[in-house]
Amino acid sequence: MIEIQTLKYGKLIVFLLLCFCAGVWGRGPEDLEENPAVQRFRTYLRIRTVQPEPDYLSAINFLLGQAKEIGLSTRTFEFVPKKPILLTTWKGSSKEKLQSVILNSHMDVVPVEEEKWKYPPFDAEMDEDGNIFARGSQDMKVVGIMYLEAIRILKSKGWVPVRDVHVLWVPDEEVGGDDGWGKFSVSKEFEELNASIVLDEGSISSSGDKYIAINGEKNMWWLVITAKGETGHGSIYFENSAAENMFKSIASINAFRDSQMALVRAGEKSSEEVVSVNSVFLKSGLPTSDGFTMNIQPSVVEAGFDVRIPPSKEMAALMKKRVVEEWAPKNRNMSFYFTSQSETRDGEVPLTTADDSNPWWFLLRTAVSKFNATLTPRITGGATDSSFVRMHGVDAFGITAIQNVPSLLHNHNEYMNGYEFLKGINVVVEIIDRFGSFSGSRQSYQIQRSSM
Ligand SMILES: [Zn+2]
Repeated sequence: MIEIQTLKYGKLIVFLLLCFCAGVWGRGPEDLEENPAVQRFRTYLRIRTVQPEPDYLSAINFLLGQAKEIGLSTRTFEFVPKKPILLTTWKGSSKEKLQSVILNSHMDVVPVEEEKWKYPPFDAEMDEDGNIFARGSQDMKVVGIMYLEAIRILKSKGWVPVRDVHVLWVPDEEVGGDDGWGKFSVSKEFEELNASIVLDEGSISSSGDKYIAINGEKNMWWLVITAKGETGHGSIYFENSAAENMFKSIASINAFRDSQMALVRAGEKSSEEVVSVNSVFLKSGLPTSDGFTMNIQPSVVEAGFDVRIPPSKEMAALMKKRVVEEWAPKNRNMSFYFTSQSETRDGEVPLTTADDSNPWWFLLRTAVSKFNATLTPRITGGATDSSFVRMHGVDAFGITAIQNVPSLLHNHNEYMNGYEFLKGINVVVEIIDRFGSFSGSRQSYQIQRSSM
């Protein structure tokens, strides 16, 4: 009898010890653990919206629940099967037909190499510093949840926007956005929203005294150059062989690349202001079962480059000239084509005006200044859904209102600090408050300014 009881107590102690260890391991600060905003953020992070097979259904169900709880109306669209878009709306109070505000976020995240992660990438584990580890914790689930949490706070204060504020949840940004914003941007549903400004993902600021607003993207060229020449025995010197011509081009491209990197290294230009050219493939040779034929010179050599050009017509024209005359000149039997290029309007990649002549910039700048921070415009080398928005003549700023966290977009061990997340919510509250209180238009604001 006694023996059995001891055994029971022994088991109980082991059980309690296990509970204690499980609770302590990976456990964040108690105030964060118990914070409902942090809990909701972590729940969203645990939904596996990872490419190439994102679980959009679970994400939409979670977000529909959130919208219902907060009191936002909802609509879902499916322009492509299994690629849902969710629109949640806070109706504005104005009787006038004011243009709306769209707060955009993509639901999908990029794939992970699970074994390289400190914690499982879809567990949203929190460490003792309050860092929450999960794919999407920076790009960009944090931004989406900050919108909702900010709206919760504003609603609890009884505040109502004058214009409609939409929170939009889209699929497939990480695979180019064609089935998400690509389809949405040309739909009547988007047109009906009559948007004046879209906020989207941006860059995390490494310092506590500034925020970054992305107002444009570099002009992207995926360039393939081809060299053709005589084929024949590997021992013969041909004039203008394909490989020889390609190497001349690569030498020219490398020299240009070095000149651009030197400008950045010397601090004369930022990386946003220079052209980036990076080699992505080199293709040639006659394959055999275990390698390449070694005594035949190939008649064709192909090379691919990812080229990103600061968004001005002049820069694009200069680069085109360079490609035609130096990188793929006809007189060396060379040609080129693009597998993909940024869309342009009148030859330019559209930008959003990032100065006080644009009321949305003014409102964004003054919102962050309340937190003793400046707002820095930035052209990004990457591509986001904002490019679809700007192509339709609508303003778009990319802002991730987070500071003091290292940027780990698409990296292993991506994490978000819980305290910075909570701080960011307050910034988003201020932004929505100012955007939603502004009853003018871009035109009326400009007239008012010019008469001052
Ligand atoms: Zn993103």
